[in-house]
Amino acid sequence: MTASVSIQSVTQSYGAAIALNDVSLDIAAGEFVVLLGPSGCGKTTLLNLIGGFAEPVAGRILIGGRDMAGVGPAQRPTTTVFQDYALFPHMTLAQNVGFGLRMRGMGRDQRRAKAEEILDLVGLPAKSDRRPHELSGGQRQRVALARALAVAPDVLLLDEPLGALDLKLRRAMQDELKAIQRRVGTTFVHVTHDQEEAMAIADRIVVMNAGKIADLGPPREVYLHPKSLFSAAFMGEINQIPVQNGQSPFGPVIGTTGTLLIRPEAIGLSGTLPLGPCRIIDAAFFGTHLRAHVAPLAAPDLCLTVHLPPTSTVTDGEVLTLAATDFVFLEA
Ligand code: ADP
Ligand code: MG
Repeated sequence: MTASVSIQSVTQSYGAAIALNDVSLDIAAGEFVVLLGPSGCGKTTLLNLIGGFAEPVAGRILIGGRDMAGVGPAQRPTTTVFQDYALFPHMTLAQNVGFGLRMRGMGRDQRRAKAEEILDLVGLPAKSDRRPHELSGGQRQRVALARALAVAPDVLLLDEPLGALDLKLRRAMQDELKAIQRRVGTTFVHVTHDQEEAMAIADRIVVMNAGKIADLGPPREVYLHPKSLFSAAFMGEINQIPVQNGQSPFGPVIGTTGTLLIRPEAIGLSGTLPLGPCRIIDAAFFGTHLRAHVAPLAAPDLCLTVHLPPTSTVTDGEVLTLAATDFVFLEA
């Protein structure tokens, strides 16, 4: 029902191009891990190696402690849900979901019972005799998930499974996906380029960049305490302030030479790190906050993005004395 995954110094290349460069990652049994990164960073390549659709040029992959070298996709305790999760159009939902069980020689009645149980689990009860074209996009996505879960894999691999859904449906499906994962206890490895999706579902986010792991940790940790400039910026807007020999534009700070990172919502009228008087360049109302650009008088060339309370009213050109409540220093 669930298994650990150990990726050990895995490298993959296509001709001269290196798609994964010496990647190591340990995933615990029952963990919901999200591989997050921009297009081309190697997410699908890593997922395909776990699923057995390709063999790495170097390194090992263990599932449940077992070396998967030479073990094909059908023999691995994994199933994959692809973005274009083609369902069989001529089959009912129960037949779609039972397909893998049929391949494994399970009898008709047992298959039907199992399919109904899993359709129930993904929130599609009493729909087992429908056909895919009678469903909405979100419902079809659930059937694809049910089909993958029906064979009770130890590890479920999901490659941008919500990519085809509109934003509202995606958010709803993310919550469901998380709830389903909790219920079944299967290890989920989920690929996305959407950092909000990653935060919504992951126990642990693995940020990837150019074939390498740029950062990893629980969403809160990666967001608040990024270990690289890349992951800091990929997880959401962040202000980057240069520090030379322990000196920032706002006075001495901890650290030597590097970058001070401050999230927009960590800047306000009070805080432990004074930013001094700042001139408002512009501001826009976002509902949950007022998003402003400001130029510190101490460093007028610097443009900081600041989230002020939504009830704030500011005028362009006004000067506010600002400070940061939280920041991270990354040494160069
Ligand atoms: P992601 O899923 O993060 O978008 P991929 O794993 O698909 O990234 O691709 C990683 C890198 O490998 C990219 O530079 C991509 O162009 C390259 N690549 C992927 N698949 C192939 C292939 N079959 N042949 C050649 N290059 C490939
Ligand atoms: Mg991909």
